[in-house]
Amino acid sequence: MDLAAAVTAARRRYAAARPISRDWSDRARAVQPGGNTRSVLHFDPFPFRVARASGRTLHDVDGHRYVDLLGNYTAGLLGHDPGPVHDAVRRVLDDGWSLGSVHEHEVRLAELLVDRFDSIERIRFTNSGTEANLMALAAATHHTGRAKVMVFANGYHGGVITFGHGSSPVNVPHDWLICTYNDIDDVTKAFARHGPQIAAVLVEPMQGSGGCITGDADFLAALRTLTETHGSLLVFDEVMTSRSSRSGAQGRLGIRPDLTTLGKYLAGGFSFGAFGGRADVMAHFDPAAGGSLGHAGTFNNNVVSMAAGVATLTEVLTDEVLAATFERGERLRRELNDTFTRHDLAMCATGSGSLMNLHGTAGPVRSAADLGAADDRLKELLFFHALDAGYFVARRGFMALSIEITDADVAGFVDVVDDFAQHHAGL
Ligand code: PMP
Repeated sequence: MDLAAAVTAARRRYAAARPISRDWSDRARAVQPGGNTRSVLHFDPFPFRVARASGRTLHDVDGHRYVDLLGNYTAGLLGHDPGPVHDAVRRVLDDGWSLGSVHEHEVRLAELLVDRFDSIERIRFTNSGTEANLMALAAATHHTGRAKVMVFANGYHGGVITFGHGSSPVNVPHDWLICTYNDIDDVTKAFARHGPQIAAVLVEPMQGSGGCITGDADFLAALRTLTETHGSLLVFDEVMTSRSSRSGAQGRLGIRPDLTTLGKYLAGGFSFGAFGGRADVMAHFDPAAGGSLGHAGTFNNNVVSMAAGVATLTEVLTDEVLAATFERGERLRRELNDTFTRHDLAMCATGSGSLMNLHGTAGPVRSAADLGAADDRLKELLFFHALDAGYFVARRGFMALSIEITDADVAGFVDVVDDFAQHHAGL
């Protein structure tokens, strides 16, 4: 059977096994364009609808269960029912939750994060990683009095700051300068031409949504040097990568950005975002220091996220747990790549630690251009094959291991991929 026919058959089999999800999807489409309210959650023919989740398992309304290897696109690092977070949230609910006032939990969470990240001297909270990036860019353009923001093709910093195919029609209208990831020459030339106008470089240490393309250490170091030389701010978007160590990717790399943005798992799975960094830059938000920037948001300091964040950092994510999850991811990626090579299948897994992406190309993948020839159909087939075997990864091949994922899960998934690769060897 050729690939196109195999994909059609896989979709049909998937749909036939999930009639209740299909009904819900039809019902959703009648009231929500696209049948959802978060575009990434859709895949054809329709996404299975989750009834409940616990630990590392998702249960859908049709009675299927899946080992969750996606972990809510990194926000689910703690798995689905981390006890200490559950307890902390129950406790704060007993004391009321829509306070319209400051409280203790936000200070505790700020102290914990400032303690973990050397580069973060002051921090403020938002509801999402997107907002954190919007605020970081507002701070950078205001601080420097410059308009241009350097970003990278294939980068993702939120639904309104995304560069998958040029700039997106829903992007905020900053004066974007879109360069090539991992290309020191390109960036050096852009600084030579536009240096005095560049307010900030906004970069993911690893392009997450763009396919888990890791930033070379010398590329990221060059960004630090160039921004320093030209008086621009270096903004590390660590919304995804902060899980790679106690102090994120920057801790592993030994690079100190001026500003950092955070989000995802840090509130134990509740909505969260934060931006922070140099005290002199963050002082623009401090009226007592003459700062003139406001930072609004009804739910910025919501007690649930703040208390959940404290429990996450003090009771769940020890350095040992983070390191073990990172290592488990490294091992899984190695074994996946060995499997693809052994069966001579044109696929690869890229990424760092517990974050990775499957691609329909043998690689290497150093920037978006390397994905141009990838065969998406192979990836889609593997996606359905994994679902059949009870493993959930993103349709685009993205995986973010939670701390609940075990060595046995890793071995089980590698077996599933091995089986898939045997069937499609030589493609
Ligand atoms: N930055 C990065 C690197 C991300 O991966 C994401 C989310 N995928 C965001 C920012 C946006 O975060 P949120 O979805 O919480 O707005």
